[in-house]
Amino acid sequence: KDGKTLVGGHEGVALDCEFCGDCLAVCPVGAITSRFSKYAYKPWQLKKTQTTCTYCSDGCEMTLETEGSKALRVTSRLSYLNKFGLEVEPGDQHGGLCVRGRFGFQFVNSEKRLSRPLAKINGKQVEVPWFKMIPQIARKLTEIKNQYGGNAIAGLISGRCTNEDVYLFQKMMRTILGTNNIDTAARYGHINSVLAMQYALGVGSSTTSYKQITLSDVILLVGSNITETNPVASLRIKEAKNRFGAKVIVADLIETNMMKLSTHPLLVSFASQALLLQGMMKAIIENKWVYQPFVDRYPKAYEALCQSILPLSQEEIAQKSGVAWEKISEAAQLLAQSRGGTLIWGEGIVSEPGGWDNLLALIDLALLCGLLEKSGAGIHPVCEENNEQGAVDMGGVCEFLPGQVPYADGKERFEAIWNKPLPDSVGLSLPKIIEKGLRGEIKALYIVGENPLETLPESMRVRDAFEKIDLIICQDPFLTQTGKSADFVLPATTFAEKEGTFTNMEGSIRRVRKALDPIGEARTDFKIFSDLLRQMGGDVYRSPEEITLEIDTCVKGYYRGERLQGNPAHLGHYLGNGFAEEVLKRYAKTGQAGGGSGAASSAPAIQLVLGQSIYHSGKLSTQDEGLMKIYNKQTLRISEADAAALELKDNDWVRVKSDQGKVELAITILPSLTKGIVWFPEHFATLKDLMNVQVDPKTDVPYFKSGHVSIQKVPLFDLSVVSQSPSSFLPPQVREDKDEGDGAHNLPSPLEGEG
Ligand code: SF4
Repeated sequence: KDGKTLVGGHEGVALDCEFCGDCLAVCPVGAITSRFSKYAYKPWQLKKTQTTCTYCSDGCEMTLETEGSKALRVTSRLSYLNKFGLEVEPGDQHGGLCVRGRFGFQFVNSEKRLSRPLAKINGKQVEVPWFKMIPQIARKLTEIKNQYGGNAIAGLISGRCTNEDVYLFQKMMRTILGTNNIDTAARYGHINSVLAMQYALGVGSSTTSYKQITLSDVILLVGSNITETNPVASLRIKEAKNRFGAKVIVADLIETNMMKLSTHPLLVSFASQALLLQGMMKAIIENKWVYQPFVDRYPKAYEALCQSILPLSQEEIAQKSGVAWEKISEAAQLLAQSRGGTLIWGEGIVSEPGGWDNLLALIDLALLCGLLEKSGAGIHPVCEENNEQGAVDMGGVCEFLPGQVPYADGKERFEAIWNKPLPDSVGLSLPKIIEKGLRGEIKALYIVGENPLETLPESMRVRDAFEKIDLIICQDPFLTQTGKSADFVLPATTFAEKEGTFTNMEGSIRRVRKALDPIGEARTDFKIFSDLLRQMGGDVYRSPEEITLEIDTCVKGYYRGERLQGNPAHLGHYLGNGFAEEVLKRYAKTGQAGGGSGAASSAPAIQLVLGQSIYHSGKLSTQDEGLMKIYNKQTLRISEADAAALELKDNDWVRVKSDQGKVELAITILPSLTKGIVWFPEHFATLKDLMNVQVDPKTDVPYFKSGHVSIQKVPLFDLSVVSQSPSSFLPPQVREDKDEGDGAHNLPSPLEGEG
């Protein structure tokens, strides 16, 4: 009679897990239930729609279960019948999802969704019906084109839009509005991978597959906190190690989850990842572990690499990179002598200053190891947003037409396909659009699903540029900061209300299926573009399937999973034309600077790094009540050593200062952080305005994910702390410069960390 029932972790120990919720899927008796969906449905009443997750580029399949106009739960193929996914082929999806995919569906039902179009009248945004809105926008865009020419118009589209949306958008911008000023979220980093791979190999996408990754005998992961950014892809690496015995080498600035699990962890000093790659190449050359067919085929290029890479001493590389030479050499030998090795990289090396050079170093390493030729080997970039790769493949950037065809090379061909002249200009990337906007040379900006005001730091002067642009159109499911400053706001739908496809990082095409009708008067991106095209005299499509068919004719084989083909002679051109001078300069820079991303030797005391958390993806997930309940930790993560030096303990407040301003916020001590690095989740805009921006001279990628700051403890009597209402999930745990004096402070949310 004294028996007690207690629900909790085994032996009362709190769960230390990623909250992927796969336990829900495999629990055979329903003992584990999602609190988000509890009592909200009767399973047999739910409509089930097979679709694709909208968060990251892993592109997991999911079943979105809906009732009426609401999404009520997400399930996946993983079940107790397929426990742990062990029956599936290696590398196939085991059917599970991560926390974002399984629990981050509530933004679809959000009351903050836009349901009616808004137009700015006398400085105020007011509701205007669609039948007035579309003709007005079409008229204004046409007037601007006629008065200033197409070059005065620019467009920006999200890497979360479907392939069909991006294709239609770029076609409208190029053929109807006469502009090639088009960009997408890939500009924040992934375009470095695409352009460098294009430049060297002739095609900019992964050369391998998830299955090959799982079957790799050696995996080198550089600058990617893959467990957080691409959780299901990270399972493939774990499977490669645990099930097939692969050696996993992880090089990063921070001791990531994957580094802890790896066989060969390489914790590198700040801005030294490129130097580490140079060290690995040096070890490969000195020890003659080079892939011999490469030397035989390109002897001059090999000679040039030797001359560029060898001068730096082993001691210097080890000292600057912070990794012992023996460890560098061991990792190099493993990769070079691998049967089918895989090189994977992520935003930690792509979105840092010198990203372009870093990418070329990765490609050089892959060439020396034969990763582009050995059967089962390959190279694989990972990017954040679900369809960044597809957006580039569909011509959503100024450099490429659909199929990653360089604009100048494909202009005539596409003029013939589309039966319309295309602009002569090479077009502008996002940083150049902003630059020209500041000079008053951009008159209209059409933004689809992007939010540059909240993404880019103030030093990029996006707001100033917006003030000089006559017409800003913002199409988004939510009223973002960018939307608030727009002249026209068009309510768009989420992925749950759309048909189309996404392209994941492996190059697989994933179907997006409509599970719900659009809320209120919201329209799909496809429908809005079609309505505008009808008004402006463009091609009219009745459904996204018609666009799919058109894409299929101009990017042959794309939907059948055939990879985009580069010119096979491309590598020879890369390794021939000026390669010797180019590598000599490039590696001399790396050697001096301790990496393309800045001087390790002169690295400042504290580097602020903005990075991704497993619980969020871009800004979209911050619109999701479920994910915000799980994770809304807006504290500065600091290493134990730095905390001790500053006499800080958890939840103490600090003032973070850069030459752009200062912000006060609470800290959390994170033992896995390296001394000299502080970390903050990039999904929250709190610290981004402290960052300076450097734009890559080759690829126009704006680098702002890391920067020099100073940190000072804020004495308690300096703070006016007020407790936070337990019902609030949005603790502004910060006091910004401007609020000084009256800023209310909130203690960490009592719900933080709940799963
Ligand atoms: Fe979605 Fe990526 Fe998570 Fe898969 S790994 S469920 S695609 S966020």
